[in-house]
Amino acid sequence: MIIGSDNKADLKDSAEEKFLKQLKDTFQRLPNEIPLVMFTERGRDDVFCETNRQIIRAFRELSPKITFKEYYLDHELAKKWNVTYSPTLLIAPEQYDIRWLGAPMGEEGRTFLETLVLVGLGKSNLSEQSQKTIEKIDSPRQVKVFVSASCPYCPQQAVNTVRAAIEKPKLISLEIIDIQSRPELADQYSAHSVPQTFANDVLIGHGAQPEEVFILSLLTMEPQTLFIPESDAELVETDLLVVGGGPAGLTAGIYAVRSGMKTVVVERGVLGGQVATTPIVENYPGFTQVGGKTLVDIMVSHALEYVQIFKGEEIVDIQPGNPIQATSTRRRFHSKAVLLATGASYQHLGVPGEKRLAGRGVSYCSTCDGLLFRDKNVIVIGGGNSAVTEALHLHHLGIKVTLIHRRDTLRAEEHLVKNLEANKIPIVWNTEVQEIKGKERVEEVLLFNNKTHKKSKLKIDGVFIAIGYIPTSELAKKIGVQLTPEGYIQHDSRHRTNIPGIYSAGDVEGGFKQIVTATGQGSGAALSIFEDLMNPYWLHEKGRSSRKTGSSKS
Ligand code: NAP
Repeated sequence: MIIGSDNKADLKDSAEEKFLKQLKDTFQRLPNEIPLVMFTERGRDDVFCETNRQIIRAFRELSPKITFKEYYLDHELAKKWNVTYSPTLLIAPEQYDIRWLGAPMGEEGRTFLETLVLVGLGKSNLSEQSQKTIEKIDSPRQVKVFVSASCPYCPQQAVNTVRAAIEKPKLISLEIIDIQSRPELADQYSAHSVPQTFANDVLIGHGAQPEEVFILSLLTMEPQTLFIPESDAELVETDLLVVGGGPAGLTAGIYAVRSGMKTVVVERGVLGGQVATTPIVENYPGFTQVGGKTLVDIMVSHALEYVQIFKGEEIVDIQPGNPIQATSTRRRFHSKAVLLATGASYQHLGVPGEKRLAGRGVSYCSTCDGLLFRDKNVIVIGGGNSAVTEALHLHHLGIKVTLIHRRDTLRAEEHLVKNLEANKIPIVWNTEVQEIKGKERVEEVLLFNNKTHKKSKLKIDGVFIAIGYIPTSELAKKIGVQLTPEGYIQHDSRHRTNIPGIYSAGDVEGGFKQIVTATGQGSGAALSIFEDLMNPYWLHEKGRSSRKTGSSKS
C-alpha cells in the first residue's frame, strides 16, 4: 500500500493490482474448469468476434482454468450444439446451455465475470426462496435475455438468467443477446428497450427484476412484479389475523403493525381484490390515473414492509375464544383478534347460457379478457361505475362496445358518463338480456325491452357482465357473525361484530364500496382492535351475545 503517496496514478495502479490479485485468488479457488467455445463465420470476421477474443485473452491471463477454443460455423460441433450465429460464445457447453450472441462488452463485462465464477463454482448461488420456486419448474424453458453494453440494469437480469440456467441445466437454456450485435432479433421480439426477458418466446420480464421475482416469472410464464415468501409454519401465533388482502385488509395490516400488533394477512385469491382487475382508477387521491394492478402492487409492497402475507390459502374455519383459533387450507393460526376483510365478488346475471359460456365469451373482467376481443363486437351489461369503466376500457382496446342497461339512466359518476358520451359508445336503454346463446362460444343474446315489451336478437362475440357485487360473507355466517338482510356483515362504528374479538372492514360491510372508503375502514378497524386489545371491552361487558349495529351502511 502506498499510504501517504500523493501520486494518483500510483494509487490507481495499486488498486488495479489488488483487484487483479483478488480475481486470480478467486479463480484459483474455483473447483471446476471453465471451457469457452466460440463459433465464427468462415471468411468473415467482425468487431464482436475480435472483442470476444480480446476479452477472453484477458480473462485467461487470470486463470489457466479458463480454456478457449474457436471453430467455424460449418464445424460439426456447431451442428451438435445447434449454433447458427456468428459470433456465438458457448460457456461450458458440455454442462450447460448458456450462449452469448455478441460480445460481453461494457456493462456486460460484469455479467460475464459472474457467469465464469458461477460456472467455475458449479453452483447457481440462488437464494433459498428462489431455489424453492425453481424446484417447481418441470418443463423446458428456452430463455432469451436482450441486453446492451451501455445498460447498467442489464447485468442484474442477465445474472438472474445465468443462475437459473446453472441451477436447472436439463430444463433451462439461455441466450444472452446483445441487441447491437443482433438487431434483427431485437426487432423480431420488439425488444426495443433492455433488459427484456422471454421464455419460450413469451415476455416474462420487462426491466431488471429482483432474483426471486424473475424466478417466479419463469415458473408462471408471465411477468411478475412481486415475490411473497412462502412459509412452512404449521402454527402461526399472532395478535391480529386479517382475512382478505384487498385495500381494507392491506391497510389494516399496515396500521395494526404500526400500532404494535403482530399481524398476518391471509388471501385466498388475488391480492388487491376487485381493484386488481379494475382497468383504470381515477379517484384514488394522489393518482390522477393509475392502473388497478399498479395501485395494488404499490399497496402490497407497502404492506409487505410490515406484515407477513399468506397468499393462495383460504381460512376455512374460525373458533372464537382466547386465543381465537383459525384454520386455513395450509396451517393453523392462533390470534387475539380477527378482522374479516373478505370483500365482495361479481354478481351474476342468472340467465340461461351465462354459466355454460363463462370463459367462452362471457366475462366479468375486461382487464383480464378484453384483449381477446380486439376488433370484435361485445356488449357490457350494467349501468353503474363498473359497467361504464369496463365499456371505456374495452373501447380503448379497439373493441366495438355497446352498453346494455335495464333502465333509462345510468347510476355511474357524471365524469364517467361524460367520458362515455365523448367516446360515442352506444347505449341500449330499458333493455334486459334474457339469454346468452352459442354452441362453443357466445354467438348472440336475446334482448327484452321492458318499456315496449319487444324481444330481439343481437349477434355478438362477447358479453361483459358488470352489474355489481355480492358480499363474500359465507365464512362470517358460518362462524355466527350477524349479517344484514342483504348479506353484509353487521358491525358497529368501531367495526366490531357481534362476536368478541371479530371485526369487519371494507366492501363486506356494505356502504360506498370505494377503494378509498375500504382503506379508511381498514385503518379504522385496526385502530379499534388495538384499543380493544389494550382494554378488552368483552371483559367489561360480560354476557353480550350480539352487538348493536351503530353504522351498518348497507
Ligand atoms: P352498482 O353501482 O351496484 O351498479 C350495478 C348496475 O348493474 C346498476 O346499474 C344496476 O341497474 C345493474 N344491475 C344490477 N342487477 C342487474 C341485473 N340482474 N340485470 C341487469 N342489470 C343489473 O355496481 P358497480 O357499478 O359494480 O359498482 C359497485 C360499487 O363499486 C359501487 O359503489 C361503485 O361506485 C364502486 N366502484 C367504484 C369504482 C371506483 O372507485 N373507481 C369503480 C367501479 C365500481 P339499476 O341501476 O337498474 O339498479
